[in-house]
Amino acid sequence: MCRSRKAYTLAYKKRVDVERDTYLPRQSPKGLLWCTDCGAVYYRQHWTITPPQEIKERLESFNGVSFTLCPACRKIRDHYPSGELHLGGLWKVETTTEKLAQRLGRCLEKARGGKVVYKSHNNKFVRVLWQKEPLKKVA
Ligand SMILES: [Zn+2]
Repeated sequence: MCRSRKAYTLAYKKRVDVERDTYLPRQSPKGLLWCTDCGAVYYRQHWTITPPQEIKERLESFNGVSFTLCPACRKIRDHYPSGELHLGGLWKVETTTEKLAQRLGRCLEKARGGKVVYKSHNNKFVRVLWQKEPLKKVA
């Protein structure tokens, strides 16, 4: 009996073009980074406003700490939002990440009811529309 071996291939996987956020570094920076604008701290491969106590102590000693601008502050300076939240036609909130706009929309829907619509553009920018009253159908 002869068994043929099928070659393992990834051809069945759906190819999705995901554009990379150009404000994020290609490689994880070494050491601690401290944003000079907002005070966010980069450690364990993410930025946070509320680092744990041992990280705060390292920041106070300036041991292995580099100063920079975090990606969010750079986006704000460049006026390059990654998301927008429209609040029922009242005003618009711009966000530095798509996920933040989506989370805000979900929180609004959960807290205040209404209807949320998500419109993504090339996996790089999202527009979230929240309406207090459900959208009315036009007859
Ligand atoms: Zn910052």
